[in-house]
Order: sequence, then structure tokens, then C-alpha cells
Amino acid sequence: MSDVALLPQVTAFLGRRQGHFIHGEAQEGQGAAFSVTNPATGDTLLTLKGADEAQAHAAMQAAQAAFAPWRDMPTLQRGALLLKLADALAEEREALAQLESLCSGKTIQLARMLEIDQSVAFLRYFAGWAGKINGETLDVSLPSFAGEKYTAFTRRQPVGVVVGIVPWNFSIMIAVWKLAAALVCGCTVVLKPSEYTPLTLLRVAELATACGFPPGVINVVNGSGALLGPLLIGHPACAKVSFTGSVATGNAVNRLATEQGKRVTLELGGKNAALFLDDLSPEEMVNGILEAGYLNQGQICAAAECFWLPEQKMEAVLALLSERLAAMPIGSPLDEATVVGPLANRAQFDKVLGLIEQARAEGDEIVCGGQAQGGKGFFVQPTAIRVASVDSTLMREETFGPVGSFIAYQDAEQALATINDSPYGLAASVWSHNLSHALRISERLEAGIVWINMHTFLDPAVPFGGVKGSGIGREFGSAFIDDYTELKSVMVRY
Ligand code: NAD
Repeated sequence: MSDVALLPQVTAFLGRRQGHFIHGEAQEGQGAAFSVTNPATGDTLLTLKGADEAQAHAAMQAAQAAFAPWRDMPTLQRGALLLKLADALAEEREALAQLESLCSGKTIQLARMLEIDQSVAFLRYFAGWAGKINGETLDVSLPSFAGEKYTAFTRRQPVGVVVGIVPWNFSIMIAVWKLAAALVCGCTVVLKPSEYTPLTLLRVAELATACGFPPGVINVVNGSGALLGPLLIGHPACAKVSFTGSVATGNAVNRLATEQGKRVTLELGGKNAALFLDDLSPEEMVNGILEAGYLNQGQICAAAECFWLPEQKMEAVLALLSERLAAMPIGSPLDEATVVGPLANRAQFDKVLGLIEQARAEGDEIVCGGQAQGGKGFFVQPTAIRVASVDSTLMREETFGPVGSFIAYQDAEQALATINDSPYGLAASVWSHNLSHALRISERLEAGIVWINMHTFLDPAVPFGGVKGSGIGREFGSAFIDDYTELKSVMVRY
């Protein structure tokens, strides 16, 4: 097989000077230059200049100026614009997927199905909330002395300008989660993509403008998170921060936002577990492990990294898993036959290889993989590691890579207790034909989302977010409404 041919509009986009999207216009940066690297080759795709302080403030001012007219636009009109943007993304599917694959190393198939198709689905879901974000009428108990009566109602009012800070692993989809939720509530947004994947959101913003979104409703600023984060969050117009990324950065963002009295939601990482009960066959377990741990080279926040297997099945599972991992086609992400692409950037590549080395040093057993693939690009073999004990670093530290840690248990209750003994709790799964047993375990797993006989699937109707150190707040479902609106009470005497 060979790479898909790049569409002319992708080549043309890469040939243009890129920077930011502020007040409905593409702008070049005035700050420090940085390069975007193709992780499949290590070559520079293009160099752009980050936003300086003046541009960061200009984006916030543009969003602030656009807020009142956007809030006051008839709600269904806002929903109709989100639907138009969904259609525009669907039409531009291939070009956006190619661009994303070039920047992040995501396989072209996943870029199409997750970055684009899922973004379209989420946009349509959130558009469906237009006209349905309501308050309630309340029964007031105040006494009446002279025949007067009372009533009260609540309204949901948009909080204002939302700063959305997004990571590199799903740069379109995660931004769309924030963008669509904010916009349907009547907020305007300034998005800050990762330095590694700054391009596709610029194209999304261009498409939105062509769809008729007024200038300033959607702005994108690129550059260093350490520089831009405080500038955007500290700007007086910022009413709320919606952050997705690492625990360390999320905690810093949380401190900054709360010090300044800004609302904040955090979608962070963790160390997710998958617990397989002993009624499953080794083949069923391996199918589950591949689904839970290895999609997108493991660079999915909700992916499982710790696999708990019944002791008597461990050998058979690891033998079969090793065969299946070794047979996965690894190569160019633009080749439709590729299943394993590169890691998204050099920092991630170095981190994952460092953690594998540490595992070796701690006496964990590398069952398969465990090496860089060699040649150009940031490829790491899909890896399975049998950890020496629950104290191994790999049982605690997120690799965010194609590295599963495997540990045997004798008693499922003991396994559950150890899984819960974690500072994190984003996602977990339990696998069994015994639905009654699995449901009982799901009640006690400490995670924001628990899957039974599945893992990693997200649906716009199902709230998503972490407990403990993995985050604050929920996206999707109806849960997002609390985060993007203020509840106003109105009391009336008549
Ligand atoms: P990261 O924390 O390094 O960066 C995330 C974003 O924060 C980037 O845009 C970055 O520029 C910005 N940033 C950096 N410093 C900042 C600062 N001081 N102030 C404000 N913004 C700043 O994360 P990453 O490496 O891009 O992404 C990987 C991490 O994201 C993993 O830990 C993963 O688990 C997590 N993640 C979580 C979810 C979720 O929904 N829970 C989804 C995807 C990824």
C-alpha cells in the first residue's frame, strides 16, 4: 500500500503563512516563531509565529465585542449555524483529516473517523440543544398580606467569553467539544491549540466564518501555552476556562483561574484501568485489550493503561496479545493500511521510551515491543509489559503511549480495591459475560466514566469527565449547561 495523495487544498494551506484567527480574519503572528513537525518523518511541515501579548488581548477583545450580539441572536439561528459548520466539516473531511494526520501522526483512517466524523456528530448534538436550554418556574411561599401574589423563574444565561485550551491528541474533536457547548449556550470563544498541532483549528475557524459565524465569535491563537495561558486567562473578558491536557498543566491553570475568580473545567489525564473477570476467554480478553489500550498509539486520555487479568489466564493472554501486537501494520499514517502510526511529537516519543527504560530498570518484564521502530519519525512498537508489582512506576504514571501494563490478580475484590487506590479517576472498564457482577463492580469503580465490555467510546449524550485528580466538571449530555451558563433567578410581585 502507499500514502493517499495529498489534496491540492492541503498543499495550498501548508504553503500559506499561518498564524492565528482573530475577529474573523487569518493573521500572521507577531511573537516567537515555532515549527510544526511531521512526526512520521521528523521533518518540519511549516514554521509560524506565535501570538504576542497584543494579539492575545486582541483575540479576547474580539470575543468580548462579539459576545452581546451572539448572545442576543435568536437561539435557533445559533443552532442553525452550528449545523452549517457540521456540514462544512463533513464536506472538508478528507482535507482536514490529511492535515491533522500530517501534524499529529494520527492514521488517516482515525483522523477521518474520530477527528472529523465525531466532530460532526458532536456539533449536530450540541446544535440540537438550541432552544432547549431553559430555566424553570418556581413556586414561591412568601405570605400575601394585601392580596399580592408572587412568582419566580430562573433563566440560563451564557457566562461570556470562554477560553478553550486543548491538547495535541485530538486537536479538532476536543476543541469542537468546547466550541459547540460554548456557542450553543451563547458564549463566544478563544481557542488555544497545542503548539504541536496548531493548524487544523485555523481551518475550522475559516470554515466557520464562511458559514456565517460573525467575526469574533470563534478566535484561535497559537503559541506557547506558558506564555498565552496567563494572558488569556488573566484577561478581564475571560469568564471561564475549559482546559483539556495534562494533570500538571491543568493544576497550574486551575490555580490561575480560581485566584482570579474565573470558572474552570478541567479534563485531565490519569492512569486508567481495565479489569477482566475470569469468565472470559483469552481471545475475548485480547480483543478488549486492543480496543482499550492501543488505539491512536495509546494517545487517548480515556485509554486503559493498566490491565488486570486473572492469574490463571495471564500466560495465554500475553502470548496471544504479543502475536496480535506484532502483526499490527506500523508505518506511514497517510497509508490507509497502517494501524500504528508514530507518536505525535518528539517529547512524547522520548517520554514513552524513557518510561519503558525505567520499567526495565525496575525489573518489569517487556513481553513484546519495547523499542523505537527505527528509521525516521517517532515510531514506538506496540508494547506489553508484565509489571513486577503494583508499586512499579508503570502502575502509576501515565505513558500516554502504546504501552500496556499487565498485572495478575487472584481476587477481583482485591484488584478493585487497588485500582481505586489511585489519585486519579478518569475512566475504567470491567469486562465479563456476567453482567450482574460487572454492574456491581461498576458501581464501586472510582472513575468519571465506567464502561462494561467496551472501552474508550464517547457519545455526545453521555457525560464525560474525571473524578479525584483527573478533573473538574463534565462535558456532553446536559451536564455541560451548568458549566457554560449562569443561573439567574427572577422574582415577581403582582
Ligand atoms: P499539556 O498539558 O502539555 O498541554 C495542553 C495545552 O495546555 C496545550 O495547548 C498547551 O499549550 C497548554 N499549556 C501549556 N502550559 C500552559 C499554561 N501554563 N497555561 C495554560 N495553558 C498551557 O497536555 P498535552 O501534552 O498537550 O496533552 C496530553 C495530556 O492531555 C495527557 O495527560 C492526557 O491524558 C490529557 N488529555 C486529557 C483528556 C480528557 O478529556 N480528560 C483528553 C485528551 C488529553
